Amino acid sequence: MSDADFMRAALAAAARNVGATGDNPSVGCVIVQDGAVIAEGVTDVGGRPHAEERALSGRDAAGATAYVTLEPCAKRTSGALSCSDHLIKAGVTRVVIAARDPHPFADGAGVARMRAAGITVELGLLEAEARAQNAEFFARWDKG
Ligand SMILES: [Zn+2]
Repeated sequence: MSDADFMRAALAAAARNVGATGDNPSVGCVIVQDGAVIAEGVTDVGGRPHAEERALSGRDAAGATAYVTLEPCAKRTSGALSCSDHLIKAGVTRVVIAARDPHPFADGAGVARMRAAGITVELGLLEAEARAQNAEFFARWDKG
């Protein structure tokens, strides 16, 4: 399976809850370790937990790659651990993201935080597909 195949799996997971996540976008997350999918998650109905929390749920993902359809958040209203922190804590070493999250709780800060922690972060794989899934969300938050 290629990076694009795994990202397509993440997009398929996200597709399950499109329209059911309130103000939050429906995001998909696939965790791959040693070439095999060990977990996947989608944003829960109502908007939380987030896809990354669902996929990781406290699991050790040492050395794994996470494929996420939207940049992981860097901050939460509730004071809960952000998804960037969850990925760092789980030991993920590479994160492949489809689209940057324009929301102020991410907006590049998720990428920056994970890179600062030594994670390899790649951005833009199947971006158009990911943006189309959550077109309303992007229309609301994209600046110009
Ligand atoms: Zn999050």
